[in-house]
Amino acid sequence: MTPSRTPFGGKKWPVAVLGATGAVGQTFIRLLENHPWFELAEVAASERSAGKKYGEVTRWIEGRMPDSVRDKNVVIVDPANVTSPVVFSAMDSSVAGTLEEAFAKAGKFVLSNAKNHRMEPDVPLVIPEVNPGQLAVIASQQRNRGWTGAIVTNANCAATVAAMALAPLHEKFRIKRLFLATMQAVSGAGYPGVASLDILGNVIPYIADEEPKLEREMCKLLGGFANGEITLSEMQVSSHTNRVPVEHGHTVCMSVEFHERPSVQAAIDVLTAWRGSEDTHGLPSAPAMPLVYTDAPDRPQPRRDVNLGNGMTVTVGRVREDPLFHLRLVAMGHNTIRGAAGGSVLNAELLAATGVIRPA
Ligand code: NAP
Repeated sequence: MTPSRTPFGGKKWPVAVLGATGAVGQTFIRLLENHPWFELAEVAASERSAGKKYGEVTRWIEGRMPDSVRDKNVVIVDPANVTSPVVFSAMDSSVAGTLEEAFAKAGKFVLSNAKNHRMEPDVPLVIPEVNPGQLAVIASQQRNRGWTGAIVTNANCAATVAAMALAPLHEKFRIKRLFLATMQAVSGAGYPGVASLDILGNVIPYIADEEPKLEREMCKLLGGFANGEITLSEMQVSSHTNRVPVEHGHTVCMSVEFHERPSVQAAIDVLTAWRGSEDTHGLPSAPAMPLVYTDAPDRPQPRRDVNLGNGMTVTVGRVREDPLFHLRLVAMGHNTIRGAAGGSVLNAELLAATGVIRPA
């Protein structure tokens, strides 16, 4: 597939961002600025922001707010207020569940970052390079629920980083048990997020609901797809999650036991060779290298590696023997780009390139 030009006959496809004012919503707006296929047409948020200009209600976090969004009217999140057929959801999970369903029922394709629907059997949980086959359950989702639209989710940000590093190893050597400990950036907590006096010079060894999310989502991300159904991997997963004073970039330290024990060199060879599913090659947001292996003894590091591949590349290193399990390794990736908005945009590009979403 070489989808270098818009699949919509030269015309950009209008899209909306729901929860456009938050940390992930703002990342969507940056990534959609000058996107070759999609055009940001609408922005929606809560009652707090609705009825005002985007530039008035949004405390912009990074760089300069694009001029194209500054004067857009923010509408309240409701399918009746949004005409775009594709909507990116960056809403708080306390409201995302029912609102996303209402959009799918109204015929919209919802690309969701929220946790609410991720584990439902007929909802794809997709990292395009890892498990694009899950998109095939969209047909049964629409049939089961009587929807003409659909919900497609991307995973928890730390789970995304871990799954990208482990996908090539799991494919070849099959993971049996996985222990992981995260060091997660403050931007993962949204904006304004964690109070500065709680996080400066500190580590918080608790992120609400994060460990169960990681443990269950890893099994779906690295699961299979057979007879029209997603199957969960039977690997056992144990996680510790920590918030650290880093701006962007989640680091995940892992110890892994496999069904077939690889040598350190065999694991490095597999990680180095991996390019992810061919379905993603050439998509506008797909990095040339979804995974980069480094042999530097002190990498990956968020400060130095987080923007690799425009924030879409995960860096993996420190692959070595493990005295308890088989191998140890460290992965790091951008949480609001690869782990959230960038992952959603790539999902939408894949849906467009494969004709699942089409112009009206
Ligand atoms: P955030 O900065 O707190 O932003 C939350 C957004 O939700 C804001 O735009 C807010 O709008 C909107 N919202 C709140 N209540 C609403 C309501 N009643 N109706 C409509 N919109 C409402 O959070 P975030 O970090 O961007 O995260 C957004 C979602 O992505 C969450 O579900 C989160 O778990 C998920 N996620 C985040 C990351 C990350 O790295 N940050 C990674 C993966 C997934 P107002 O400004 O109008 O209140």
